[in-house]
Amino acid sequence: MTSPDLWEKWSAARVRAAHQAPYLATALLSLDPVMVTGTSGELRRFPTDPGWHVYAGIEELARQSVPEVAFWLVHQVTHLLRAHARRYPGGVLEPRREEQHTWNLATDAEINDDLTPDLSPETATRPPDATTPARPGLPPDATTPARLGLPDGWTAEQYWHALRDPAPQHGRPEHDSLPHPPTTTPADCGSGCDGLPRAWDHDLPPALSPTTARLTALDTARRIRERLNAQDDVPAGWRRWADQLLEPSVNWRHHLSARVRHGLTQAAGRVDYTYRRPSRRAAALPGVVLPSLRQPLPSVTVLIDTSGSITETMLDQALAEVTGVLRAVGIGRRLLTVITCDARAYRPRTLTRISDLHLDGGGGTDLRAGLAAALATRPPPDLIIAITDGRTPWPHHPPGTRVIVALLDPAGRAPEWAETVRVGGTS
Ligand SMILES: [Zn+2]
Repeated sequence: MTSPDLWEKWSAARVRAAHQAPYLATALLSLDPVMVTGTSGELRRFPTDPGWHVYAGIEELARQSVPEVAFWLVHQVTHLLRAHARRYPGGVLEPRREEQHTWNLATDAEINDDLTPDLSPETATRPPDATTPARPGLPPDATTPARLGLPDGWTAEQYWHALRDPAPQHGRPEHDSLPHPPTTTPADCGSGCDGLPRAWDHDLPPALSPTTARLTALDTARRIRERLNAQDDVPAGWRRWADQLLEPSVNWRHHLSARVRHGLTQAAGRVDYTYRRPSRRAAALPGVVLPSLRQPLPSVTVLIDTSGSITETMLDQALAEVTGVLRAVGIGRRLLTVITCDARAYRPRTLTRISDLHLDGGGGTDLRAGLAAALATRPPPDLIIAITDGRTPWPHHPPGTRVIVALLDPAGRAPEWAETVRVGGTS
C-alpha cells in the first residue's frame, strides 16, 4: 500500500469514527497521527501518547479494515478524554509492566462496555472460537468487562481494584474458568493509557496541550449534554462522564463545606446544650459572677480510606477541602484526629500537615474497622468525616456520632444513615 493510500484509509477511518460517535468529532480531529514502521503487533491498537499523538503502524494500517481502525480511534480518544494517563494508580514498587497491563485492562473495560456493536467493525466479527469476544461485533482483541468476569458500568479504578484483589465480593466468579487476558503479545494502548513512556513514542511537541485537552474534554461533554437534550442516544458511560465533568468542581466543594459546617454546628449545639443547663453551682453561689461559658468546639475525626482503589489525587483534593473547612471554623490540630484505614484501622494521629500524613494501607477496604476505632477514642469525636470511594462494607446501624461521607467514586456506596457528599468532577 502506498503512502497516499494509507492516508486515505486513515481519513476514511476518522470520518467513520466521527460519524458513529458525533459527540467525539472534535476530539477525533484533534488526534495527530504519526506513521511508524517496524513495530509489528505492538501497534495493533493504534496507541496514543498523552500529547494526543496516535501511532499508526504502517503494517497495521495496511492490514486492518477501515471499520477496525475507526473502532480503535474511538477507543483511543476515549483513553485521552477520560484522562486515563493521569488516573493511572500504579506504583513503582511492583513490577511496573504487570500494573500497566492491569490498568490497560481496567480502562479498556471502562471504555468498551459503552461501545455498542454498531460502533464496531462488522468485518471484525469472527466465527466463534477461543478468541470470540464477549460482545458481538467487537474486535477479538477488545477487552470487555464480561471477558474479565466483571459487571458493566464500573469505573476503571473499580475494575483495577477488582482485578488486583479478585475477592468474590466484587462479583467476580470465584474460579479460574475466566478467559484470561490475551496470552500473545499483550495489546497495548500506549502511554495515553498510563502516562509511562513507550518505545515507539516520539519526542514531539504535544498536539494538544493539557489545557487544550481539558477544553476539548469540556466541549465533548457539552456536546453529549446537547445530544441528550435532543433525546439522542448516548451510551450510559459517556453520560456519567459528561455529568461529572460538567458539574462545576466548586459545587462539590461548596456542598462538602456546607455539610461539614452544618455538622459542626449540630455537634457544637449538642455540646453547648449540656453547658446551658441551669447550673446548680450558679444557684448555690448567688452574687458570684461566673466566667462566661465558652461554646466548646466539637472534636472531629477524619477517617481516610487508603485502600488501593483510591488515587492520591482524589484523596488530596478531598482532604484539602475537609481540613480547609475545619481550619476556617477554628478546628485546629488539637481537635482533629486522623485515622487511616484499609482492611484495618491504623493508629489515630493528630494531624499536623497534610504532607506529613503517611498514608498507610493499600489493601482491601473495611471502613467498619475505622469507624470502630474512631468511636473507641476517648472522648469520642463529635463528628466523623469519612473520605472513601465507598467500596467498603458499612455498619448496618448508625453509630452514635454524626457521620459525613465524602464519596470519591460516583459508583461507590454510602450508608443511608450518613450524610453523603459526592466528591469529584475534576475528571
Ligand atoms: Zn485501550
